[in-house]
Formats: sequence, structure tokens, C-alpha cells
Amino acid sequence: MRIAFIGLGNMGAPMATNLIAAGHDVTGFDVMAKPGGVKMASTAAEACANADVAITMLPNGEILRKVAAEIIPVLPKGAIFLDCSTVDVDSARAVAEQAHAAGLKALDAPVSGGIGGAQAGTLTFMAGGDEDAFETVKPLFDIMGQKAVLCGPSGNGQAAKICNNMILGVTMIATCEAFALADKLGLDRQKMFDVVSTSSGYSWSMNAYCPAPGVGPKSPADNGYKPGFAAELMLKDLNLSQMAATAANADTPMGQLAQELYQRFVETEDGRGRDFSAMLPRFEKRSRA
Ligand code: NAD
Repeated sequence: MRIAFIGLGNMGAPMATNLIAAGHDVTGFDVMAKPGGVKMASTAAEACANADVAITMLPNGEILRKVAAEIIPVLPKGAIFLDCSTVDVDSARAVAEQAHAAGLKALDAPVSGGIGGAQAGTLTFMAGGDEDAFETVKPLFDIMGQKAVLCGPSGNGQAAKICNNMILGVTMIATCEAFALADKLGLDRQKMFDVVSTSSGYSWSMNAYCPAPGVGPKSPADNGYKPGFAAELMLKDLNLSQMAATAANADTPMGQLAQELYQRFVETEDGRGRDFSAMLPRFEKRSRA
């Protein structure tokens, strides 16, 4: 397929590289990044002029809307606008509507799996939008990832992503505060892991991404809490979940508290640039207020 790839940062560059390695004709555009091995256009519109599929992997909804306004008018009729960024549900639905009005097909398909998953081609895609467009780009999902789920109409991919990451933020905090409590009770961390990882407190945060160094599988905790999944990216997703909860009038007290804790961690403590599991050393240092 002829693919335009807009936004070749930490995630976009390795995703584009995997598509090229699989034989697709990829033309990239980025306002800053110039990754090697990707044929680059001088504008987003130029990259999209003959594309069957335009993939965007951008920082936020505002930038997505701006790029959408540039590329929707030039994409050939019937082309697919595939946004893989994590953005607010409203922006995802708005650009899909504009794409439809211009005779295009649209999918929002944010990813889980991080930079490692983008490099290894093992991302999970959660998609919202047209079923036939989903089937058309399924071979691309299979190259860039290991699983793709169509979650319903436009915006539902973003909805799935922020609900998932709201659970992740809450369970990571719960796991970290439990380790810090265990420390103060004199309970060995390895014993705590051995019990919880096979008991009803288990979760991905404990079992697959244990925040305690030297315990459980290898994780950013074993690498000085270098990300991994940075605390500020978790904060971004928690902010999106709270925006969506406000708009939908949903009561999400745990999600709200997780958002507040990560905001403090990133903005006024030492969380920025550290993995989101560095909540554990944060709790270690604290006493009951
Ligand atoms: P990044 O900042 O490394 O990359 C974004 C790229 O977009 C940059 O290279 C930037 O120059 C480019 N860009 C900005 N404005 C542009 C414009 N107007 N036109 C063209 N290019 C433009 O971010 P990233 O880590 O690659 O993340 C991309 C998206 O994926 C975000 O929405 C993020 O939330 C999501 N995501 C990231 C991770 C992760 O672990 N990094 C995991 C899952 C999802």
C-alpha cells in the first residue's frame, strides 16, 4: 500500500520502519524528527497526495485536528485516515466526521505497548470506526502489532484506551502503596510478590511490571525507573480519562484520585522523566499525612 506517515517520533518512527521492512511504500512527514530510512515529504499534504492510507502518530488532539485540516482535503477519495495517536474522544470523533464528509474512511486506533512494542511490532491496537476500513488496514496492524480489536464506531478506540489506562494508573498506585505498607510492616518484598502475584491482588502492574526492583520480571524498576512508560504519559492519559468522564457525566473517583496523584508526582515532585512505577520510591519516602 501507499502509506503517508505523519508524526515520526518515538512511536511513529519504528512503526513506519516496520511497514517499510514489510514492503510498503511509506512517505513520512514530521515537523522536527528526521528518522533515517524513511522517505520524507516536505509537507503533510505532499506526503498524502497519492496515499491509500494516512497514518498519524501525533502528541495530542489539538495537533491532530490541525494536521487533519491539512491532509483531509488532499487525500484521494476512498483513502483511509488512520489515527494511532492517543487523543481525547471528542477530537477523534470530530476528525472522523470531517474525513467522512470528504469521502474518506476513518479509524481511530490508539496503541498499547509503548516504544518497545512499536520497535518489536507487538503493539495492541484498539480501533473505532468503519468495519471495512478496519479489514483493509488489518494487514498493517498485523505488521505493527500483535493484536487489533475493533471496539465500535469512531472514538471507541480512544474510549477503550483511556479506560484501560485509568485501570492501569489506579492499580499501579495501589500496588506501590501496598509495597510501601509491606515495608513498614516488615514484610519482605519478594514474599509479598510471591503471595500477591498468585492471589486476588494480582494485576498487570504487579505480575508483569512489578514496581519493586529485583522482584518479579525485569521492569523499569530494575533500571533505575528509567521509562518504560513515563509518568507524564500516564498523566496525559489520566487527564484524558477525566475529561471524558466529565463530558459523559461518569463518576470515576479512583481515576480522579490517580490523576491528582500523578499530577503532583509529575509537576511538584520528582516524577517527570521517570517511569510511572516510580510511584513506589515516592510512597517509600512518605509517612501518613
Ligand atoms: P513523540 O513526541 O516522540 O512524537 C510525536 C511526533 O509528532 C514528534 O516527532 C513531533 O515532531 C511530531 N509532530 C508534532 N506536531 C506535528 C505536526 N503538526 N505535523 C507533523 N508532525 C508533528 O511522541 P510519541 O511517544 O511517539 O507518542 C505519539 C503518540 O502515541 C502520543 O499520542 C502518545 O500519547 C501515544 N503513545 C505513546 C506511547 C509511548 O510509550 N511513547 C505509548 C502509547 C501511546
